[in-house]
Amino acid sequence: MMIGEVLSGKVIVLDPGHGGVDDGAIGPSGLLEKKINLDVALDLWKILNLQGATVYMTRKTDKTVYLKDRIELANKEHANLFVCIHHNSVKNAPEVDRTQVFYWSTTDTSKVAADELLKSFERIFNLKGQLIRNDFKVLRLAKVPAVLVESCFMSSPQREKWLRNPRNLWREALAIDDGILKYFDDIGGENK
Ligand SMILES: [Zn+2]
Repeated sequence: MMIGEVLSGKVIVLDPGHGGVDDGAIGPSGLLEKKINLDVALDLWKILNLQGATVYMTRKTDKTVYLKDRIELANKEHANLFVCIHHNSVKNAPEVDRTQVFYWSTTDTSKVAADELLKSFERIFNLKGQLIRNDFKVLRLAKVPAVLVESCFMSSPQREKWLRNPRNLWREALAIDDGILKYFDDIGGENK
C-alpha cells in the first residue's frame, strides 16, 4: 500500500443518476441534472482513485443506462459501497434546499453509510438534511451496501447558479468522499 492509499482494497461503484434520453430534473434556467450528476461523479472518481479504491462507474458519458444494469454492476463487482448521485427538484417551492440521503437495507451497513454522507453534507454545506429509508428500486435490488444521495435542490434558482460553478461540484464530491472515509472508519475491518 502506498502512503495515502487509505481506501486500498475497497471497491466502490458510483452511479451518476439519469443520462442519455433521461435528463432527470431540469433547473429553473435549464441546467440538466444528468450533467451535474456525472460531473460530481467524475470528480469523486478521481478522488477515490487517488485514495487507492477500485472505482467503477455505471456511466462515464451522457448515455442511457438501465436501472437493472446499474444495480448489476454493483452486485457483480461485490462493491463495498454503491453510491447513487442525484440532485433533487420540487415544483413551486424555490426556497426548498436541503440534502437527502436514502438507504433501504437494514441487514447491512447501508444506514451507517447514509448517515455519514448526510453528516458530511451538513458539516460542509451547513444545510439541514434528512436521512430517509425508502425502497427505491436501485437500493432495494442492491445486494451490497447502497445509498442514494440527493445532494441539494436544483429547483432553487440560487442553488442552480451555485451548481454552475465547477468548484462547487468538486466541493460536493469532497463531501461525499469525506462521508465515505468516515463510513469505512465506522465499520472498521468489516467488508460489508
Ligand atoms: Zn435524479
